[in-house]
Amino acid sequence: MPTMARIIGAIATSHTPTIGFARDRKLSNDPVWRPIFEGCKPIRQWLDDRKPDVLLTIYNDHITSFFFDHYSAFALGVGETYLPADEGGGARNILPLAGHAPLARGLGTSLMADEFDLSFFRDKPLDHGCFSPLSMLADAGQAWPWKILPLQVGVLQFPIPTARRCYRLGQALRRAIAAYPEDLKVAIVATGGLSHQVHGERCGFNNTAWDHEFMDRLEADPESLTRLTHADYAERGGMEGSEIIMWLIMRGAMGEKINRLHGSYYLPSMTAIATAVWEDAVPHEHVGNFVDVQLAGAERLEGTYPYTLERSAKGHRLNRFLHDFVLPEQRERFRTDEAATLAAAGLTAEEQDLVKRRDWRGLIHYGAIFFVLEKLAAVVGVSNLHVYAAMRGQSLEEFQQTRNAAIQYGVSR
Ligand code: FE
Repeated sequence: MPTMARIIGAIATSHTPTIGFARDRKLSNDPVWRPIFEGCKPIRQWLDDRKPDVLLTIYNDHITSFFFDHYSAFALGVGETYLPADEGGGARNILPLAGHAPLARGLGTSLMADEFDLSFFRDKPLDHGCFSPLSMLADAGQAWPWKILPLQVGVLQFPIPTARRCYRLGQALRRAIAAYPEDLKVAIVATGGLSHQVHGERCGFNNTAWDHEFMDRLEADPESLTRLTHADYAERGGMEGSEIIMWLIMRGAMGEKINRLHGSYYLPSMTAIATAVWEDAVPHEHVGNFVDVQLAGAERLEGTYPYTLERSAKGHRLNRFLHDFVLPEQRERFRTDEAATLAAAGLTAEEQDLVKRRDWRGLIHYGAIFFVLEKLAAVVGVSNLHVYAAMRGQSLEEFQQTRNAAIQYGVSR
């Protein structure tokens, strides 16, 4: 049987911004920070021994890269690389972390087919929720030993996903990884919590007894935790401690029975910090390759190019450039000096040429989405009908003869 993508274990590490700063200041021997460094050591050892290719890291952003202009429940990173975010005091001086874009696209497609409606992001820096624990698990200043798949969970603006939904998403992730046709060892990393509250008069709330109960139930009876409401979590572990529901995604991705190889708990100030490693009692196995049933057959439709995550990744630079025509100043810049604007945008020679020649069909073939082409059309002063005709290889007149009404329109007023 071929060895394919599989989950080799799960890691839990709480996140706080200060853990990352302690790492940067090399405070591993400071009595305050030492227990956290010590708690991470067995995880590092496990990573060294098991050598995962990818850390699928479940975290929440703290209103750094994800804001309320578009807040989503489950956002999967499909980018090629991730930078540390500036959270208000300057970004940490750490190396960018490579994503595993093909795996992200594969799992994203698989999860959507499994009726988990994710959002997808790229070009967003990751805040301490992700980078602070990860930087404790690798050597500072060295190339990261693994790639990352960030799964951002929107837990800060209610309504947020239920604990049950998180657990079910984890189970779907397990199915998706088991059906991904590449030899990859994946470790699931859950960050966040444990008990804490950082706002209001109840600020400073902790509950060590609950933290231990949560960890035990997570291991032995996770279903029981899926029956708790957000208010139940807030009552037991503090309002911000409710982010612990993210650990249920990790638990759902593991098998029914798991073995804890390591566990630590420490409460230095506001947030209870735990670290843990688990492995499945019964190893995770490949179950046959995922087939995209939803789009299977679409390839038979001549002249049709579904805008998949693959096309989106290839056309991203070009689509970003053309999308910027929603800005009046970008339209003006382009009209004034097209060649310079194209060059300044960092487009490849091929991309620049496609735009210069208004090669509408070529642009679609390359990976542009139609809805940025109509923006370009408006800027260069042609109607949508020109674009439609050109894509079909017809003159405007020929194309108009195929319509019931000979009108022209576009997105410009
Ligand atoms: Fe947090």
